This record gives sequence, C-alpha cells and structure tokens, in this order.
Amino acid sequence: MNRVPSLGLGTWQNTDTDQCAESVRTALELGYRHVDTAQYYGNESAVGAGIDAADVPREDVVVATKLHPEKTGLAFDEVIEGCEASLERLGLDSIDLLYVHWPVGNYEASETLAAFDELRKRGLIEHIGVSNFDVDLLEEAMDVLEAPLFAHQVETHPLLAQDDLIEHAQANDYYHVAYSPLARGEVFDLPVVTDIAETRDVSPPQVALAWLLAKENVCVVPKATSEQHIADNRAALDLTLTADEIARIDAVEREERLVERDGAPWLN
Ligand code: NAP
Repeated sequence: MNRVPSLGLGTWQNTDTDQCAESVRTALELGYRHVDTAQYYGNESAVGAGIDAADVPREDVVVATKLHPEKTGLAFDEVIEGCEASLERLGLDSIDLLYVHWPVGNYEASETLAAFDELRKRGLIEHIGVSNFDVDLLEEAMDVLEAPLFAHQVETHPLLAQDDLIEHAQANDYYHVAYSPLARGEVFDLPVVTDIAETRDVSPPQVALAWLLAKENVCVVPKATSEQHIADNRAALDLTLTADEIARIDAVEREERLVERDGAPWLN
C-alpha cells in the first residue's frame, strides 16, 4: 500500500461505541477505504469493531491513528508502548499510517521519530505521518526520519486554505491530509459554496470536499456519523469543479482556524 485513498472517514467525537462501529462499517461498505482515528478520540476499539464487521478485506483499508503527547507521551518507549496499545484496541496486527498527533509536550524530533522508524522496522506500522506541524517542523522531521515522511494532517478547508503547506507537500512528495475539511459545518452556509452547490445541484459539503480533492497530494477526512452524511460526502469523488469554481473558493478571504491550537503557537 503506497497510496492513501483520497477520501477517509473522520471519527473525532464519534464516541458512542456502537454508533462509531456502525459509521465505520457503513463507510467501508459504501466504498471508503481509509479511516482516521486517534488514541485521543477514545474510539479505537469501536473503529476496529467496524472494520471487522465490514464485508471488506482488511488489506484494502488504510487505518490511520495518532499518538498523543499527553495521553501516552512521545518519548521513545512511550511511542513503542503507545503503538502496541493502539494495535490491541484496534484488534489489528499493523497500522497503515501512524501520526504524531501534536508536536508538543515531550515531542523531540530525534527521539520521537526514531521510535516511529523503529515501529516501521518491526513491521508494526507501514507509514509515518505527522499532524499540526509547520514548515520548519516538517523540514526537521524529514531530516531526522530514516523513512520518508508519508503524510501531514492539518486543518484545511475553504476558510483555512493552507496554500504554503500544500505546496510543501507537493514539492516533497508526501500527502497533505485535510482535517476538518467541512470547517466543522461552517462551510454549509458560506455563500460561494452554497451558490456553487445550487448551480451544480449538489450539496455544500460535496463542493467543499471537491475543492480540496482538486489539489494534488491532498486527501480529506470528513467526519460523518449517519449513512446519509457518509454517502453524501462519498459523492464528492464524482464532482469535478470547473477552474472558475475553484478560483472563486480560492478567493475566499475569511481566515478561521476552528480546532484549538492546543499550545501550538506556530499554527496561524
Ligand atoms: P468536519 O469533518 O469538518 O465536520 C464534521 C461535521 O460535519 C459533523 O458535525 C458532521 O455531522 C457534519 N457533516 C459531515 N458530513 C455532512 C453532510 N454531508 N451534511 C451535513 N453535515 C455533515 O470536522 P472534524 O470532525 O473536526 O474533522 C474531520 C476529522 O478530521 C475528524 O473527525 C478527525 O478524524 C480529523 N481531525 C484531526 C485533528 C488533528 O489534530 N489531527 C483535529 C481535528 C480533526 P455528523 O457527525 O452528524 O454526520
């Protein structure tokens, strides 16, 4: 597996065990092949149950999770033990993509990422990702890692376009995974998005996701709980925006970060 399906299912705050497992199963059966969770979300067991319940071969699914600086810590041994605990909860033998959730607390590039390289050598993870980094932190990570950096997950949507970070991902050939791609609901009444949605007879979430998916190296992980939302977002893969529609969303000037910076002052 050397690529990440461009549409993944987000699961933050999908914490009811049965509901979360059902969302994951539904998404996989509707064609999603990428599921995004984290130790911090408290739902890895439910995500694992959903994967197990789906009529989809495990090897076809990219399972991504994240190690949190406070939940487990990011010192060498904490990373190894944190990964083993995630594997146990997920009920899997290996994780396709393991991220550093936030480079705060005891994150130390050389030590933390050496442990990620070690997990890869042991076959416990396939790819290494980071999340909530800036360009300097990304450069440092790429210098320190033996394995190629595979993905950077960061808040990205029409109100936070992240052009510099996307350009950096394209120039260095790793994935830019857009989290909160629907701006946690804020795009649903953004006039340019609703206008395009009406003209094209599609939903506003589909327009926001198609705008991101039009960019090279960009993946999206919208969180959706119900079958209706999961299917609606899936249809974004069938929507190709025109250059003019893309330019109109590119031109949005409002800049809003919606996820707490969590003590990460380098994030704009
Ligand atoms: P989001 O995906 O931008 O928005 C989710 C919200 O939109 C939910 O309220 C969801 O409702 C609703 N929704 C989804 N599809 C819809 C549709 N088609 N029509 C109407 N409403 C719809 O927000 P997010 O959860 O913040 O971000 C997505 C994922 O990114 C997270 O779940 C997580 O996996 C990841 N993430 C990572 C980090 C990080 O630090 N790395 C931080 C934040 C998020 P329902 O749930 O009711 O369907």
